[in-house]
Amino acid sequence: MKSFYLCVHPGGVGGVFIIAAISFLILLRKEKKKTREFYEKNGGRTLEKAKFIKLFEKEKLKPIFKSSNFIGKGGFGEVYKGILDNEPVAVKKPISGSVLENEQFANEVIIQYQVIHKNIVRLIGCCLEVEAPILVYEFLCSGSLDDILHGKNKVPLNLGVRLSIAAESADGLVYMHSKTSIKILHGDVKPANILLDDKFVPKISDFGISRLIARDKQHTGSIIGDMSYMDPVYL
Ligand code: ATP
Repeated sequence: MKSFYLCVHPGGVGGVFIIAAISFLILLRKEKKKTREFYEKNGGRTLEKAKFIKLFEKEKLKPIFKSSNFIGKGGFGEVYKGILDNEPVAVKKPISGSVLENEQFANEVIIQYQVIHKNIVRLIGCCLEVEAPILVYEFLCSGSLDDILHGKNKVPLNLGVRLSIAAESADGLVYMHSKTSIKILHGDVKPANILLDDKFVPKISDFGISRLIARDKQHTGSIIGDMSYMDPVYL
């Protein structure tokens, strides 16, 4: 060991240090370039113009993705609970390798942009600096209606609460169908996609498979959704 130290020339140490520093700078530049490319590909410039949607840097969301914050996993991604700008949020991260992910998430952002209603989960912002955009929603502390009715920690709901959940969810749907500038078909309304706040006010979530239907058209050519909840005639 001693002889090793004796053999190392101070100039050699400096050389190694310089090479390490240059490699680090090259990696940093590559990473920045990739981040920029993802941002542009995911429509960063267009979304920048919509002032009310927050665009989060990936570094800001990183601390949220830990197992203690994990809420659950759906067909298209994992959901984590976090706090951003002093507000509780649910952060939806796409499962990597999902073929549909880019189209799916871009669709979700565009649709939710136009939908602001007390019975629809609010999209707060997104992060575009990653391959498939991450979405940030308001956090609903009582979870989904499906969990409450059928999950491990069932909550008994009286008839009045059940009826108001049904009526208010319908309000949210009416808004999507006829009050937005473009008709929106959710396509997958089911208890798992109805989230509840602390007062059991329902909010419709998961626009991932929604379809925008132009006002002059009555039908869409592509149908996706959970068949168990579809109108048999429609099916
Ligand atoms: P699928 O994607 O197949 O329709 P899902 O609706 O269960 O299934 P996600 O919407 O990804 O899938 O939700 C995964 C989990 O995260 C569910 O337990 C859901 O209740 C929870 N969750 C989703 N969004 C929120 C939110 N905004 N606030 C609180 N919990 C949420």
